Amino acid sequence: MNRRKFLTSSICGAASVAVATSGASLFTSCAEAKKPAPELRLSFQEGIAPGSNLNEKLDYMEKMGIVGFEPGGHNLANRVDEIKNALSGRNIKVSAICAGFKGFILAEDPEVKAQFDTTMRDIIAAAGEIGSTGVIMVPAFNWQSPCKPHTLETREYLCEQMHELGEYALKHNTTVILEPLNRREAHYLRLVSDAAAICRDSKSAGVKCMGDFWHMQEDTSDYAAFLSAGKEYLQHVHIASRGRRIMPGEDGELDNYVEGLRALKEMDYPYYISFECGTKGEREQTVKAAVELIRAQWELA
Ligand code: MG
Repeated sequence: MNRRKFLTSSICGAASVAVATSGASLFTSCAEAKKPAPELRLSFQEGIAPGSNLNEKLDYMEKMGIVGFEPGGHNLANRVDEIKNALSGRNIKVSAICAGFKGFILAEDPEVKAQFDTTMRDIIAAAGEIGSTGVIMVPAFNWQSPCKPHTLETREYLCEQMHELGEYALKHNTTVILEPLNRREAHYLRLVSDAAAICRDSKSAGVKCMGDFWHMQEDTSDYAAFLSAGKEYLQHVHIASRGRRIMPGEDGELDNYVEGLRALKEMDYPYYISFECGTKGEREQTVKAAVELIRAQWELA
């Protein structure tokens, strides 16, 4: 038995034992009291599905019941027709746009900031045209410099800038989504709750945040992290294995998402959980196994 099977079967085993040992009437009343779970909406970034072109990838996704597609933001304005045509008649929608802009919002250099403003707004406009829930952004990666210092003034500046961006996104029927990373990649924004507080303080309904199971290493609880953002601010979720950022399941027992998934169920999370990861195995097999694993853990959550 490999490590993935161990995790899934041990959790499933525990659940079935619990059901078997509870009385039938108790089980029925619990089931009746429980509100219906929201639908699990899985999404793939463009590199996840096997296939040599977008249509082959979408065919594969459709067969797997994947209902979201997350393209990168690079060159998005020139891909609007291609993506619209490829999605036409399919049960797949654009879940989010992953970054793709130039520059960064906390740049000290006005030219770099201007690059961000122009390219990000182009991506937001294109995202709106293809019906995306939002455009994902990171305020600053560690490698981006010179960067504004980590001070109260910078936070106020970020909130003002996010407000403008959020209002612009709303005009285009979409949002901007702040993504916290781990401190090895971005010391500025590392917690889902911190991102949610910036959403609140930006005072625009167009500013949202997300959680990425891979990056959520400083949130002490997946459950609390998602609930801290809640339905008001949590707009997207990324998923990967939790040891090496490959397919969920490829890191065995580490790949337990149940607590986070439980929070999403409890808050009636209406958006997508999107795959952002590589693989060390045969893609055809690891993708299928990962989808099965997440569906099994969603049931248990
Ligand atoms: Mg991510």
